[in-house]
Amino acid sequence: MRVAVFDEQRIGIVREDGIHDVSDVLPGWTPNSPWLVNAFIERFDELRPVIEQRADGPALALDRVRLCPPVPRPMNLLAAPLNYRAHRAEMTGHLTSGNDTADGLGFFLKAVGSISGPADPVLLPDRPDRRFDFEGEVAIVIGRRAVAVSAKTALDHVFGYTILFDMTMRMTETDREERSMRKSFATFSPMGPWTVTRDEIPRPETLALRVWQNGELRQDARLKDLIVDVPELIARASAVLPLEPGDVYTTGSPAGVGQITVGDVIEAECPAIGRMRIDVAARPW
Ligand code: MN
Repeated sequence: MRVAVFDEQRIGIVREDGIHDVSDVLPGWTPNSPWLVNAFIERFDELRPVIEQRADGPALALDRVRLCPPVPRPMNLLAAPLNYRAHRAEMTGHLTSGNDTADGLGFFLKAVGSISGPADPVLLPDRPDRRFDFEGEVAIVIGRRAVAVSAKTALDHVFGYTILFDMTMRMTETDREERSMRKSFATFSPMGPWTVTRDEIPRPETLALRVWQNGELRQDARLKDLIVDVPELIARASAVLPLEPGDVYTTGSPAGVGQITVGDVIEAECPAIGRMRIDVAARPW
């Protein structure tokens, strides 16, 4: 199932005929309560028969709604650094030290407040002295609490998969801010267009991701090339802290990252998930 969030943080199932509002399947759901999406995800298996029944009803046209981030307020937004060898190689010279990869570095955090939706532009701060990059990534959405799980059972804790742009301000020789800050500007984690539940993607290593900048193909990746694969990412992170329903873990960028400027359009497509098109604009504040 394709699970989307739209308009007043409503929860919808996307099908061929449009989007089906299933918000009120969740007991106590109220509009404009983005954190309730986590509760919906936590109870998804239990509510699924009713959700499916409701999704058989009338649909809204997708172009008549505004899609929000599919998980607007996860408790944790984790990210894998340097998780493809070809991207690791292209980052040499960008002040990345040694042979660090996700295998040795583990995860970093992005501020949850940096999340934006598939209908929102990325807003670049007015910093002409700095370089801003896109990193197209597939992200895991956690469905069941994971505490010190093994890689063998890790996928049982997945709700589904979505697409995330890990937007980044690069370091310079003299400006060496924390990675978490450079990647946490408002709108620097556009996510969407929806989450595809894991029953449709039993083997995440089969996923492919392509990214275009202004219509030109920039990234073309397969998750089988991840240095630390999806089950292992979950297992290792869950040994550090409990992963909660709705938590998002973005799996790392393939090679082909590049600088963006105001007016650019970045698009990402994962055939098993969908396509997301994001405008790059100047931050108005
Ligand atoms: Mn990244």
